[in-house]
This record gives sequence, structure tokens and C-alpha cells, in this order.
Amino acid sequence: MSEISKTLDPVDLGFDPEALRAKYREERDKRLRDEGNDQYVEVKGDFSHYVDDPYLDEKIDRAPLFDEVNVAIIGGGFGGLLAGARLTEAGIKGLRIVEKAGDFGGTWYWNRYPGAACDIEAYVYLPLLEETGYMPPRKFIEGKDILAYSQQIARQFHLYDDVLFQTEITELRWEEESQRWLIKTNRGDAFRAKYVAMSNGPLNRPKLPGIPGIDSYKGHTFHTSRWDYGYTGGSADGGLDKLGDKVVGIIGTGATAVQCVPHLAEGAKHLYVFQRTPSSIDVRGDKPTDESWYKGQEPGWHQKRMDNFNILVTGGYVEEDLVKDGWTEIIRNLINMTRSEDEPDLSPEGLAAKMELADFQKMEQIRARAEELVNDPLTAESLKPYYRQFCKRPCFHDDYLPAFNRENVTLIDTEGKGVERITEKGVVANGQEFELDCIVFGTGFEVGTNYSRRCGYETYGREGISLTEKFKDGARTLHGMHTNGFPNCFIMGTNFQSGFTANYPHALNEQSLHIAYIVKHCEEGNKSIVEASREAEAAWVDEIITTARNRDKFLADCTPGYYNNEGKPQDRFRQNDNYGLGSEAFFKILREWRAEGDLPGLEVS
Ligand code: NDP
Repeated sequence: MSEISKTLDPVDLGFDPEALRAKYREERDKRLRDEGNDQYVEVKGDFSHYVDDPYLDEKIDRAPLFDEVNVAIIGGGFGGLLAGARLTEAGIKGLRIVEKAGDFGGTWYWNRYPGAACDIEAYVYLPLLEETGYMPPRKFIEGKDILAYSQQIARQFHLYDDVLFQTEITELRWEEESQRWLIKTNRGDAFRAKYVAMSNGPLNRPKLPGIPGIDSYKGHTFHTSRWDYGYTGGSADGGLDKLGDKVVGIIGTGATAVQCVPHLAEGAKHLYVFQRTPSSIDVRGDKPTDESWYKGQEPGWHQKRMDNFNILVTGGYVEEDLVKDGWTEIIRNLINMTRSEDEPDLSPEGLAAKMELADFQKMEQIRARAEELVNDPLTAESLKPYYRQFCKRPCFHDDYLPAFNRENVTLIDTEGKGVERITEKGVVANGQEFELDCIVFGTGFEVGTNYSRRCGYETYGREGISLTEKFKDGARTLHGMHTNGFPNCFIMGTNFQSGFTANYPHALNEQSLHIAYIVKHCEEGNKSIVEASREAEAAWVDEIITTARNRDKFLADCTPGYYNNEGKPQDRFRQNDNYGLGSEAFFKILREWRAEGDLPGLEVS
């Protein structure tokens, strides 16, 4: 038993930490699979219709481009929007955004399923709130409002002036003679850019379970990120009125399914929810924005609030919790626990032990909530998650659990095994076939696969070396953003060697400020090349490897999911981790680096 459990009796705690540890191990072991990421099939070839864009009003017809721009930004989600906004603020001209969708919005363009909403508070999730003056209507903003806000940002920063929608990059290639990137697309474009910033999105490629028979199903199917309203009727607000005579199955019970299941339950004649692992579903606590509070915020409030949230959700300490919601609650519990002790053990081990207890406490509440809200005791038991809260994306919803009280909804608990097969008529789980009119795949997105595969194109640097080749033994970058041999190329996102935060736009904002600073520095100094030195890259790789050890045990103990490389954290390259001391420390490194003023570690010529 760890120190803390000796001092805190199970009777006082209301649970037995040792028993919970054993239960967590047992549940994890049920789910470990040899295939890891290979259990999923890539959405291409016969499956490529799963990524067709169902939201387009018309297909753009345009002539290919062979011109040159200053900065090509790949992706029109928050990363591309932020890069565009920060570069524009820095006075950089000649930006062009390339986006495969029909408009700006990124993940919020694609994920329009009924109930889509952000479950991170809008006041920290939405970027550029002070710059745009936008007031989110609610604490937890709906997807359609985020999509509209994305477009507002694009208008304000004039990003519609040069954007190629419905265009997919097919190749990026560094040309030594022109000292430019040659960018080819599926529209026949072959234009050049001095700089490229790639923000392809962390969850942009839908994945399907690689189960036998998946291509034999004769009914209707789609992935949640390409919702087929033509088939279901209704809108993102629900009202799926065409499903009244349909038996529907949804595979997956992650953050997406949690939001759309209540609407499917309301619309369908019958809904089967096929569950492999239950999500943790906490109270949502949504409320409209208090206008006087919002408008009364002091300048600088937005960054302060984002930082405050980020510190707390990455296990750091601040006096005041500004956001005070389910995300930050574990840390509040931890602080209360520490305060209740006469001589708290504040060593890293002591804090880790307390953190585990605070986590048990939180998850006990989550499990009690399932029991309280779901009438059938067996169903309630199946819906209880047995793992630490941040092993999987925590969810916050008030209608998901009660949906299982409806007569027309059945939870099929596959006890960690997942669905076995798909037949012409439906889904086989626990040895039983369920005939379905429609299968909805709520099976998420590729995360642990090769970076270039997830981008959807290859990037070739100096001497024709591809990024895949360069990263074949693990990523090699400075700050996750620059890599030697790929001059003037900025990798955005938290793919590797960067600062991971659940509040993804926060990381994108820090990176965008950084890129704008570097480009401005080069443009003002009349420089044409900026590239990570081999030494700086090697030093950063070392730093990542050294600090990555911090999370090894936590990840190994977790139930499989994309946070721990599908239960195989040991199989990933350790250097593909993000910065082990957390994103706040990482953002500080970027700020201090900029303050040095002479781009240390970058070779500028
Ligand atoms: P996830 O990857 O979180 O979930 C996929 C689901 O599919 C899991 O429940 C998984 O089970 C299940 N699954 C996979 N294979 C099988 C199988 N063979 N049989 C049965 N079930 C299977 O994808 P989501 O789309 O739900 O969410 C992706 C991410 O998007 C979230 O983690 C979050 O970051 C983001 N998101 C954010 C929202 C927000 O509010 N900001 C809202 C929605 C999503 P298992 O758990 O066992 O692997």
C-alpha cells in the first residue's frame, strides 16, 4: 500500500484503493489486444465513401493554380485560422489556406452530428475571444455556433481572400533551386510557397473497426463525422424524424456517441448501442453566458483563464480555479485532501499517490451517477467505467445515461471484446446477430498512425527525403515544429514533441504566435531560409525522451484507447511523446525562446 492509503482508511474514504486498483487492472486486461492500432481499417479504397463530404451545396469548379504565395497554410480549422490571424496581425502578407472541406471550421465543419457541442468551456476553448469581441452564448457552446464563429474569424482576418476549399494536398516538395515549397493538390494545382504551416488536425481521419464482414453489410451506414441527415432527417439540434421506422445500431461509446445517442434514441424505432468500454459521464452544468460578467472581464482575461484551466488539468497548482467544472475537479479534490492533512507529503511520489486517490474519488462519483440515473441495475453496472479519469476523454452529459431508460434503447455490453462481425443484415456481438437498418460508426479517428498518412500527403524535404523516412525511427524536431532538412516548414498540432493539452486550440494559439514571430523575424531581416539545426533537434529529442518517462506508468496502467497507443504505450517511439513536463512548461519554453530574440537552434540564412 502506498503511504497515503495507510493514512486514509477505506472506511473513511468510502472505497478500498487496493480493490479498485485490482478491478482497474482486470478491466484493462480484458481489453488489451495484440493488434493495437492495427485493429482499425484505414478509410480508403472501398471504404473511401465514408469520407465523402455530405455538407457541400455545390462542387467548386476552378482552374488549377501555378502561382506563388508567401505562406501556404494547410488546414482551415482552428490551427489554420489561428496561424492566419497571428501572421496577419504580424503584418505578413501573401497567405493562402488550403482546405479539403467546403468552408472553414475544421473538426466543427465535419462533426455536425446531432448534439455536437464542445464540452470544454467555451470561454477557454474558443480562440481569439478578445480579438473578435465574440461572446459565446453558453458555457458549453454548440458545434454549429463554433462553425459560425470559425467563419467569423476568417472574415475578420480576411482569410477568405485567398483560400482553396475542396482541395486536398497530394504532395509538398522542397525545391532547392527556387528555395520554395512546391505544393501539388488533387485539383491539378502546382503552386509555390516560401513558407508552409501544416495544421492537419489531430482527429481528421475517421477510422473503422477492422472486423470481419465490414464490407458485406447491405444496410445503410455512415461515420459520425459525416452525418447523413438525408437518411436520418433532422439537424444538429436533433429531431431525426426519418428514423421512426428504423432499427439503428451505433458502434462506439466515446465522446461523440455520448452526444448523439440521446438524439438517436429519440428518433429511432429501436437503438442498439454496442459498447466496448464505457465512457465516464459527469454532470454537464451548462448555462447561458452571464453577459455582465463576460463584458466586465479585464483585458488579458482570456489568456489568464486558458492558462488557469490548463495548469489545473495538467496537474499543476494555482490558488484559484477560474473554470470550476468537471475537468478541474480532480485537482480541487487533491488540494482539499492536501489541506486536510497536518503534514502533507508534497514530494512527487506523495502528490502522485494523492492524485490517484482524488481520481478514485472522482470516478466513484461517476460510477454512482450511472447507478442513480439508470433504472436497470445490470445496464447501470455495464455503464460504469473502471479506469482513471484521464485514461480516456472524460465526457459531460445529462441526457446520455437516462437514454438507457427508454424502452426503445438497448445497451449491448460486449465486455471489452467489441463487436465480433458484421453480416449482410447487421452486427454480431456476444455471439448474437442484431439485424439493423443502419449502422452508425462512432469509432473515432486515427491517432497513433504515421504522421504523413494522417496528413493525407507526403512531404519531401532537401534531397527528396520524405518526412516518413526522416521520422522512421521516431520524430526528430525542435519544439515539435521544425525539422532539419525541411526548411521554412512549420508542423502544428500536438502530434509529437510539443505541449499536449486537452484544450487543443490553446496549443494552436501558442504555436501560431510562435510561427508569426519567426516569419516576421525572417521577413524583417530579409532572410529566406529558417531551419532547425541538427544539434538543436538532437537536444530537443533528448529532452523529450528524458521527460517522457514521467507518464510511463500512468499510461501502462490505463485501459486501451488512443491516449496510450491502444494499450501499447511501450510500442510507440518514446520520442514521439509530447513534452513530459506538460504544456504549460512547454509554452513557457516557447515564450522564453522568443524573448532571446535570435532564434536559438534555428539556422537562418
Ligand atoms: P473515440 O476514439 O473516443 O471512441 C471510439 C469508440 O469506438 C470507443 O468507444 C471504442 O471503444 C469504440 N470501438 C472501436 N472499435 C470497436 C469495436 N470493434 N467494437 C465496439 N466498439 C468499438 O472517438 P469519438 O469520435 O467518440 O471521440 C474522438 C475524440 O473527439 C474525443 O476523444 C475528443 O477528443 C473529441 N471530441 C470532443 C468533443 C468535445 O466536446 N470537445 C465531443 C466529441 C468528441 P474503446 O473505448 O473500447 O476503444
